[in-house]
Amino acid sequence: MKLSCGFWQTFKEVPNDAEITSHQLLIRAGLIQKANAGLYNYLPAGYRVIRKVENIVREEMDKAGCLELLMPVVTPGELWQESGRWDKMEGLMLKFKDRGGRDLCISPTNEESITDVFRKTVKSYKQLPVTLYQINTKFRDEIRPRYGLMRAREFIMKDAYSFHSDKASLDEIYDRLFKAYENVFKRIGLEFIAVEADGGAMADGDAKTHEFQVVAENGEDEVIYCPKSGYAANREKAQTKRKATDFIKTDAPIEAVDTPNAKTIEEVASFLKIAPHHTLKSVLYTAIWGEGEKAKEKHFLILLVGDDSLNEIKLKNHVKADFLLPTQEHIIKDMGLVPGFVGAYNAPKDLHIIYDAAIDLNAAYVTGAELDKHYINFVPNRDAKAENVVDLRLAQAGDLDQKTGEEVIIKKGIEVGHIFQLGNKYTKALECTVLGQDGRPMNPLMGCYGIGVTRIVSAAIEQCNDENGIIWPKAIAPYQVHFLTITKKGAIDEFAGGMYQEIVDAKLETIYDDRDLGPGFKFKDADLLGIPVQVVLGERDYAKDEMIEVKSRKTGERVRVKREDLISTIQNFLEKAQ
Ligand code: ATP
Ligand code: MG
Repeated sequence: MKLSCGFWQTFKEVPNDAEITSHQLLIRAGLIQKANAGLYNYLPAGYRVIRKVENIVREEMDKAGCLELLMPVVTPGELWQESGRWDKMEGLMLKFKDRGGRDLCISPTNEESITDVFRKTVKSYKQLPVTLYQINTKFRDEIRPRYGLMRAREFIMKDAYSFHSDKASLDEIYDRLFKAYENVFKRIGLEFIAVEADGGAMADGDAKTHEFQVVAENGEDEVIYCPKSGYAANREKAQTKRKATDFIKTDAPIEAVDTPNAKTIEEVASFLKIAPHHTLKSVLYTAIWGEGEKAKEKHFLILLVGDDSLNEIKLKNHVKADFLLPTQEHIIKDMGLVPGFVGAYNAPKDLHIIYDAAIDLNAAYVTGAELDKHYINFVPNRDAKAENVVDLRLAQAGDLDQKTGEEVIIKKGIEVGHIFQLGNKYTKALECTVLGQDGRPMNPLMGCYGIGVTRIVSAAIEQCNDENGIIWPKAIAPYQVHFLTITKKGAIDEFAGGMYQEIVDAKLETIYDDRDLGPGFKFKDADLLGIPVQVVLGERDYAKDEMIEVKSRKTGERVRVKREDLISTIQNFLEKAQ
């Protein structure tokens, strides 16, 4: 592409709403353009990157034996009503009616559609397993679209779905796609971790699910990772052990003491001159099942070691609630509790108490009593019925891997892929059956496998940039070579044009900066766009000794070569680039 065509533009200014590096660079380098909140025009150079990502994904899916198809972006409401998600996905899903008054939506995901395709096609277990995939546009009306392509409303996703007659087959394909995902992210050149993910409250106990997280400071997810043992889980799901804690053992009886105005753990611990982990933190939640008049609710008091915090996802999965609401003033008032002074001892009967598994039930703690008072020497096993013990704490950096005892760390991650064993949830809901081996109809098991194609573009920039701009991993760079001239328009145009053609003829994807601009602008733009190899033709240099400069965007390494060595040098630089 010749830049003199004038369409490609770069920007010096950082757009107001671009909070993170990748968003800023995508806009500044002229790769995308905002159309509306969470909606982007993929401009020519940006779309080349997207297509490269798509091609890598496609090749690896095909290699894993998956079949590509394409389903409509618009899906009928009836399918979502069959699965029960028409109401559940309210908000996230963009719904509308056609001229005949029929309900439609723009797909946020396609489990229903694919199950419909499958049930219209496959009749017998003999046609299984099969894995189908598409690369297509999705729309999710995200509450907070932000960070450019990272959390957009419209985005490109590769979604695959597998169908099986038994769990062994599901496991086999799951593992195969796990490997295909590893290949995809390795080929793109990203540093990633595959982590155990949360399967949600409805997931079957042995249903596997993993996320592929690209390690990046601006990631929205937190990953718990043990470099020594290799344990890795989304923090929402992570189960770790607290480091050995000096819990207090005593025979002293429980006793109420004054703690005027001391409400928070810090205030109580500092007032009583004790460590926070010698107190119990009380957290109140209301779990709700069903909606409207039929809704049922239960109130929970969760007790945690004072310096721990609650993992809401674990609580929601444990109580299997549809909704979970943190403390509301009305429960406190109805039950006569005083915020900041709630404890497990003599708690109201309709409050369901759960002890976090990290609490030593035979140790003594400080716990809330009544206004301006706390109990000291509260021993759960002695002073209350501590029956309900569940792992509900949020994993922390410095915790220990439950299996090996090695220390874990926290890293920020961007979820670029997610694989999930769905079981027969959708085939059952959509009454999709095939003839089983025993001659009876059965609901096939399903797996689903997503990759955020456009999110990968943001993730790659988050990982690969410097103060001057993007440094594309070779596999997804919009072009391989950025050829620019330092010369006045006209002087050696013809000669430079010939050289550009020579590079193109060598099958190197090349951008040619033939604009009538000073070298400063051209170099800045080249660094901003981040093509792996830069080739610089200086008029004076060339006139002197016919030498051309080849430079690596990433390492800054540069050499001056003769024209006959140009192509081999570029190829050499590309080989070395990641
Ligand atoms: P998140 O937790 O980030 O909202 P999700 O878990 O809801 O994502 P999935 O349903 O697992 O997303 O979708 C598969 C993949 O699609 C994700 O792993 C992610 O890479 C991508 N994706 C999801 N939502 C968005 C979005 N709003 N913008 C861009 N990519 C997205
Ligand atoms: Mg996900």
